[in-house]
Amino acid sequence: MSIALDLDYHAHAERPKSGRASLVGLMKPELRDTLMGVGLDEREAKMRASQLWNWIYHNGVTDFDRMTNIQKGFRQKLADTFLLDRPEIVTEQISIDGTRKWLFRFRDPKNPLLPPVEVETVYIPEEDRGTLCVSSQVGCTLTCTFCHTGTQKLVRNLTAGEILGQILMARERLGDFPGGVRPNDGGLVPAPRGSGGSEGDSRAITNVVMMGMGEPLYNYDNVKQALLIASDEAGISLSKRRITLSTSGVVPFIEPTGREIGVMLAISLHAVRDELRDMLVPINKKYPLKELIQACRDYPGLSNARRITFEYVMLKDINDSDADARELVRLLAGIPAKINLIPFNPWPGTNYDCSSSSRIERFADIVNNAGYASPVRTPRGRDIFAACGQLKSETERLTKKERDALTA
Ligand code: SAH
Ligand code: SF4
Repeated sequence: MSIALDLDYHAHAERPKSGRASLVGLMKPELRDTLMGVGLDEREAKMRASQLWNWIYHNGVTDFDRMTNIQKGFRQKLADTFLLDRPEIVTEQISIDGTRKWLFRFRDPKNPLLPPVEVETVYIPEEDRGTLCVSSQVGCTLTCTFCHTGTQKLVRNLTAGEILGQILMARERLGDFPGGVRPNDGGLVPAPRGSGGSEGDSRAITNVVMMGMGEPLYNYDNVKQALLIASDEAGISLSKRRITLSTSGVVPFIEPTGREIGVMLAISLHAVRDELRDMLVPINKKYPLKELIQACRDYPGLSNARRITFEYVMLKDINDSDADARELVRLLAGIPAKINLIPFNPWPGTNYDCSSSSRIERFADIVNNAGYASPVRTPRGRDIFAACGQLKSETERLTKKERDALTA
């Protein structure tokens, strides 16, 4: 049985006037320079930048007027010049299993005439943790044949502020900010409290996974900036061990991800032979298995305590044989790895079926017997279309002509 509660409300439907730049997503030095641009000297700009970070990321404030350690006159100046933008909530759905899915809408602050874009973000509560699945792009340039997002053309990359905006808005809805009041959703969903941040506090969101819409490594700079702020103690303060970036295998950006961002890595593997992977995950034609596996072996910081997760979607009669399982074990030999078997989640129009549970069990046994942890990912939020690979939004890519007409 499944029910879905669709609140379908428009918390921020009326957007404020445009033209003001958002301060969400700026690194501290950028924020300092921005404040110097409105007349502060370097020393004060540095101090104010730290205060603003604290208000934005720690206290979750969206209104400059609540920043009581900043003079009233300057608060007004900030409000006249800048925004602390959050996405609009178009819909918030709650699955029978407690999973929540939001459809968030973003306007382009630089170009408010362009139509807004929408992405989905999912919150998955479990006994000992709460995971937020965040999107990096509107649509995807890649076309993995089993993935619903892959049927939506790339509209645009999300900015660092928009990536963080998903986390901030979800934290607000889950009552995760200090003094935050949990919104009243009729008591349907008990918000779990795991121990997350470095402050030893208890949070609803303890983990973040870049596993929503889009390929994060095709939006590297913005994803990097967002994750550095998410993991900064003065920012959202999530441990880097609790942030996982999943990639379909954009090999040139794997090493920089480890060195510059330092988060946990997940690889969407799904096939162990190039011929099949070329078909399922077409980026494999550009970066075949040999290069991908080598990049994993070389991942900075890799150790038994910091393993790479290999995601493997279970597709009936396609990649789920005993021989595939044995080849998987052989391919990953020597890499500190976890193998995450994902039962295929269907979507309208797909030609694939999910492997039977006995097949998945047998596959998992082979992998387990070779010494790998191979949890089968329980599908969550299928009733609200929130499970892996089911995310998509209606936003369509404009033609160049349409875009030019709107910006003219
Ligand atoms: N683009 C990145 C991030 C998306 S992560 C990547 O591909 O890694 C989403 C995960 O769900 C990926 O491992 C993806 O391969 C998997 N997935 C996609 N469609 C799926 C489906 N229909 N059922 C189960 N898993 C799916
Ligand atoms: Fe894009 Fe990842 Fe879906 Fe492939 S699996 S189409 S890379 S979102």
